Order: sequence, then C-alpha cells, then structure tokens
Amino acid sequence: MNAIHTIDDYERHIGKEAVNRIKAKARPLRDMHVMHMNSTYYGGGVSQILSSLTLLMNSLGIQTGWRVVHGPPDFFSVTKKFHNALQGAEINLTDRKKEIYEHVIHENAIRNHLDHDVVVIHDPQPLPLITHYRKKSPWIWRCHLDLTAPNREVWNYLLPFIERYDAVILSCGDYRLDLRRPQVFFTPGIDPFSIVNKDLPESAIDERLEHYGIPTDLPLVVQISRFDHWKDPEGVIRAFEKARKKEECTLVLVGNVATDDPEGAAVYRSLLAHRNERIIVLSVQDGALVNALQRRAAVVLQKSIREGFGLTVSEAMWKGAAVIGGNVGGIRHQIEDGKSGFLVSSIDEAAERIVRLLRDPDLRERMGNAARERVRENFLFTRTVEQYLDLIGSFEPEFRLKGDLGASCR
Ligand code: UDP
Repeated sequence: MNAIHTIDDYERHIGKEAVNRIKAKARPLRDMHVMHMNSTYYGGGVSQILSSLTLLMNSLGIQTGWRVVHGPPDFFSVTKKFHNALQGAEINLTDRKKEIYEHVIHENAIRNHLDHDVVVIHDPQPLPLITHYRKKSPWIWRCHLDLTAPNREVWNYLLPFIERYDAVILSCGDYRLDLRRPQVFFTPGIDPFSIVNKDLPESAIDERLEHYGIPTDLPLVVQISRFDHWKDPEGVIRAFEKARKKEECTLVLVGNVATDDPEGAAVYRSLLAHRNERIIVLSVQDGALVNALQRRAAVVLQKSIREGFGLTVSEAMWKGAAVIGGNVGGIRHQIEDGKSGFLVSSIDEAAERIVRLLRDPDLRERMGNAARERVRENFLFTRTVEQYLDLIGSFEPEFRLKGDLGASCR
C-alpha cells in the first residue's frame, strides 16, 4: 500500500527549514478552495505533477481539487494539433477546428461549476473555459509546453483567451510571452515518493525487468516517453544503431499513450518495425517499470526535439543515471552539459556520447552523482508547491499580483 505523504515526510530530502517555510506559507491560505483542470488523468508529465501536487496541497490544509476536460476524439485531435503548433509545427487552422474546440469547452463549462478561490487551467485544451464564467476570483493559465517558436497563427487565435487570465505560469524564462498579463516561471519538480521515483530494492528491479522479458546480459540504453514525435524515438533508434557498432548494448524504448493524445498509437506502431533481439519497444502503463529501468540503465536518453521541461530527465537524474538529453527547451536548464549529463543536438552526437558513457563507468558515476544533487537542489516538487503557495498568496483585490511576482509583465 502506498501511503499518503505529508510535508513532514519530505524533510529527509529538503531539510527542516524548507519544510517549516512551506508550512508557514500554507498557514494563511488554509481552507482556501483551489481547482486545477487539465486534459488527462494519466500519461504525460502534467498528470504526474497534479497527482502529487493536489494531494500534498490538501495535506497542507488547502482544499485542492483536480478535474479533467471531457471531449470526443475529434476534440483531442484538434487540441493535439494546437499543442503541436504551439511547439512550432504547421497547422491548417480551419473554422471547423475552432468550432469543435470552442463548442466542447462550452459543454465542459456548463458541467463544471467553478466558483473556487483560485482556478488553475493547464495547457491549451481547457483554455477557453474562462470565457464562460463571471469571474469572482483569480484564474491562472499554466502552460507546460516548449514555447520557443510558437506557430503565429495559432498563437494569435489563442491570445485573446490567454489575456483574460490574471497570471500565466511558464516552465522557464526562455518562454516569456509578449503578453499584457503577469508571467511567472515555475520549474516543474518530481516527487521522490511517487511510484516512478520511490526507492526500489535490486530484487524489485530484477523482478520488473524479468516480467517484461528485458534482457540484462548487455548494458541497457533506455528512453522512456509518451509515444510522440517530439520525443524523437526514431532518432534514438538511429543513434543506438550507430553506437552499437562500437559497443554492445540493448535499447529499451518504453512509452505510454495519454488519453488526450490521439497520435500516440500511430507513433508506437511505426516503431514496431524496428524491433529485434536488441531493440525492445514496449507500450505499457507501469510506473514501477519506469522506475526500475531508470535505475538499471547504463545510459538514459531523452532526445527530444522540443520539451517544455522533461520530467523523465529529472527522474533519471534523481536516480543517479547518466542522462543524454536533447539540447532544447527545458532540458537545457536541467542538465549542465558535461557535468550532470550530456546535451546533444544530433544523432551522431548522441551516438558518440552513448559510446563514451558505456566505455567509462567512472564518468557515468560522476555524472550520476552530480545529477542527483542537481535535482535535489532544484527539481524536487516541494519547490513547485512552494511556488504555488507564493503565487496564490500574492493576489490582491482585483486579482492583481503584488510585489516581485506582479512585476513580470511583458
Ligand atoms: N511516463 C510513464 N510511463 C511511460 C512514459 C512516461 O509513467 O511509459 C511518465 C514519466 O515517468 C514522466 C511522465 O510520464 O513522469 C512524462 O513527463 P515528461 O515531462 O517527461 O513528458 P510529457 O509526456 O509531459 O511531454
């Protein structure tokens, strides 16, 4: 049985001072009623974050709920296209797409009676909800995407919705938007007690790998990600094929498909053609397997082409793994190249780093140790909790943000 953790449990990771500081920040907000809304209960980093965040907020005395947008497949097909476009892809933005999007969100607004003290809307899927309420409290839009180069057409269409919010949260300063609204930057964090991250004995790791028939006779090179082209699984396979000519190893690609992502199944199917004795491709929803693989792998890859912030990167770093990440988006802030992992910009570079790490166990250990410390200092989710407490506690009448938080418009 997994226990429900309270902030005191985190003391061993973040120290007493941080725990007391978080409790003190939560005290004046006790009994507030906060609602988070996103578009999937599982699959993807947002649901991982909300799962831990909403439980810990409740244990701190803040009544925090989590709801999910409901919609038919064509709605999620449209919103995935918006998601892709915000990360820079082309889109044919027709009136029909806008109509499906806005109509389904209108239906959701009718079903959801949101009169909370604070409402936090995650990502583009539920974004237009705000247009259907007489606003009596602050509404926050939290965008988790890589906004390095958003498609202008989609951006211009979504902007009037975004500008109705009282504050916008982005994953790092690089994504700062041209907005008339205050913007704050929260680095997503991982929960050391979740199934994906909690300590695992060697026997449990062995058991999980055996259960899925994953061979352990050669070093494991691993990428764990939703099946999505932005994660570049095709590039991982090509890098692995090159590396394997120099060092023997096994590639394991594990992924899942989020309920709000209709493209995932096709990406998974396209990878199956590459399977062989040394390339394992698994589509499963098993947090314990993710945990076991990140612990046992010789090298963990996250070779994304775009990445708002890669939870899988922090998860593997937390376990002391040697991680190779795409030199993009949030990953550039997670890994210090050459110190707590490697950043790569091409398949050749990825292949070269795989070989280098496989040949040098000391380097793997040094990087892994630095990686764990980096996550402890910067990317544990108690920090995210504290940032939310700061934000929620900073709204003045008329829902303006006070002090430093309010200063970051445009
Ligand atoms: N994950 C999982 N099983 C999988 C693939 C991913 O549990 O097969 C989890 C992973 O451990 C991480 C999250 O899903 O917690 C993915 O978050 P990330 O920020 O890396 O990427 P996103 O999917 O949000 O783009």
